[in-house]
Amino acid sequence: MKVYSFPRGGISFEDPTAPSAAESRTAFLPGLSVIPLMQYSGVRAAPVVSVGDFVKEGMLVGRGRGPGQANVHATVPGRVVKTVSWKTSGGYTNEALVIRLEGAFEKLGKKEKPFSWRNMSPADIRRSIGEYGLVEMEGAGRPLEDIFAAFQPGSGPLTMVIRCVFDDPWLAADRVLCRERLKEVVEGGAIAARAAKASRLLFAVSRQEAALGEAFLLEARNWALPASVVLTGSRYPQRNRRELELVLRNYEKKEGLSLGDFFILGPASLTAVYDAVKFQKPVLDRYVAVGGSAVKNPQVLKVRIGSRIGDVFEECGGFIGKPEKIAIGSPLLGWSLADLYEPVVKTSFAVFALRENGGKPDGQPGGKPGREHRCIGCGECRTVCPVGLDPEDLYKRIGGAGNRKGPSTLRRVAECHGCGCCELICPSMLPLSSVISNAAREKH
Ligand code: SF4
Ligand code: SF4
Repeated sequence: MKVYSFPRGGISFEDPTAPSAAESRTAFLPGLSVIPLMQYSGVRAAPVVSVGDFVKEGMLVGRGRGPGQANVHATVPGRVVKTVSWKTSGGYTNEALVIRLEGAFEKLGKKEKPFSWRNMSPADIRRSIGEYGLVEMEGAGRPLEDIFAAFQPGSGPLTMVIRCVFDDPWLAADRVLCRERLKEVVEGGAIAARAAKASRLLFAVSRQEAALGEAFLLEARNWALPASVVLTGSRYPQRNRRELELVLRNYEKKEGLSLGDFFILGPASLTAVYDAVKFQKPVLDRYVAVGGSAVKNPQVLKVRIGSRIGDVFEECGGFIGKPEKIAIGSPLLGWSLADLYEPVVKTSFAVFALRENGGKPDGQPGGKPGREHRCIGCGECRTVCPVGLDPEDLYKRIGGAGNRKGPSTLRRVAECHGCGCCELICPSMLPLSSVISNAAREKH
């Protein structure tokens, strides 16, 4: 089967300290759950319970009040013992309800009766998705209800793209999820297609997961929608929207199809859609890849949302020595953790801890931030830029002395989509993409 890749740039990233994507293990339930009222960099939900209240598993505890806000639910039964607030590494203040585990579970381990969604209208499905506070779990956590509302397809066909593109070993959790909940990923895709009024399913699957693509197709026969698989390359940033669309358009042309607009979601979001619409359940668990050079037993854990990240590391045997860096996300694009008390949220696909240098050179993926040096003119940043920009030149124009930000520079800056490849590859550890992306944000 032909493999479709974006035409230029990108990097191949391997990391032996990432956990294996072979299987998952269910983590212990937390004695104390920390449920943030803001589960992504959006707007804080309004609490609907107070300290001292008893809450049930899956009960609404924070209500979103409009666009940019998602409803928040308790993930364990218990008593709200306090509220806490902290400054995140992203610079904003978050607030959380702390719930002490008490009482019986109503959903965990119980056989539930599925709800037939086939007769639901697209608007009813979207309402359900909003009610259960679903967010885009593979991205920044934007509420799915907002994504559906903002989506304005043209008048032609619309394709629901199920994105299972793994261009980073730290996406191990979503790889495991695809295998362990394959039926739910596909049915979640069919439900989301109904909600978006898409007429076709397209599975975008990394080349190393060709067998998974075949299994998806087999399962998709249960749904009255044409379905196909496109195998993608596995260079980062293949999963990004821009690079994925390049591949999908190329596939469309080569196969003589008419795919129209794309509505793209990943496996974690789609299983959440399945649980919410078919079983009236909010997101209670997240598959999380836990690893890094400072972690004793890296593995993929199925973790209850609200578990403290410190406890998650303990589940993996704790640390080897004192970690130099602890962060959420991938070493490619992760952000440092302010405190081990911070909880797993819907978007926490990976957490990692690194020993000093992490066995990697300073400033490189997995290593600690390095000291900046002077540009040595190697040209690597130009080679890896998928847009075809000259990051070195842009960096000098924006960050250098004198005003060299002419209209053509600003136009080029606006084309950068912040993939970070240039900065990751730069042997002089210059903050290329940080400076260029900041300038692009200022322009808008
Ligand atoms: S961050 Fe911007 S300039 Fe750097 S490689 Fe990516 S697209 Fe190119
Ligand atoms: S990769 Fe770094 S050192 Fe090499 S040309 Fe680009 S900015 Fe200069």
